[in-house]
Amino acid sequence: MQTDMSSGKDRILIVEDEEAIRDMLGYALMKEGYVCEEAIDVEQARNNLQAEKPNLILLDWMLPGMSGIDYARRLRSMPETRDIPIIMLTAKGEEVDKVRGLETGADDYITKPFSTKELIARVKAVLRRYSSKDASGIIEVEGLTLDPETYRVSANDNHIEISPTEFKLLHFFIGHPERVYSRSHLLDQVWGENVYVEERTVDVHIRRLRKTLEPFGFDKFIQTVRSVGYRFSTR
Ligand code: CA
Repeated sequence: MQTDMSSGKDRILIVEDEEAIRDMLGYALMKEGYVCEEAIDVEQARNNLQAEKPNLILLDWMLPGMSGIDYARRLRSMPETRDIPIIMLTAKGEEVDKVRGLETGADDYITKPFSTKELIARVKAVLRRYSSKDASGIIEVEGLTLDPETYRVSANDNHIEISPTEFKLLHFFIGHPERVYSRSHLLDQVWGENVYVEERTVDVHIRRLRKTLEPFGFDKFIQTVRSVGYRFSTR
């Protein structure tokens, strides 16, 4: 069992069936001060998650049994695991397109072979994004600040006038960065599942949100992913 809970170290669950890569990941992360748990497949990962929730999951795409991609979707669909950041490990170029395009729910992906330096940089970036939500609920991303309590949005301390629907849309996006959402998913999340609204309504509000953010240069964060949907990204 874990004994170092009080140290405040981030726990990372590595799900990878290849021993050499698993060892490499574990060693590199431990050297950086992370506490690592290892699993060779989804079943072991599940047992691990039940014992303790990690701060981040490194998830291999190709696993024996259930694939990493299916597991990522499943984690996203369950309330108790929805908020755990996931970085996918992929092997081939075409897989990256799938990770990007499909709604896997992954926060980022790394293509094998990768350097330790790249791995650590990605892990730190994803963890930083998640910890940018402070206790008051205020979320800040590169100068764009959203306060769910007061319904205020500001750009580098300049107040932004924003309508309620655009606020809700931005709130959802900013809390779930780097992931692609379809129109129907956004409708469920922002408008609610029992509200009948046409999917093109989403496009209308995306346009308005971009227009609202445009004077401050933040419209670039609201990105169209062709034939899939939209995402909030600072890249
Ligand atoms: Ca594998």
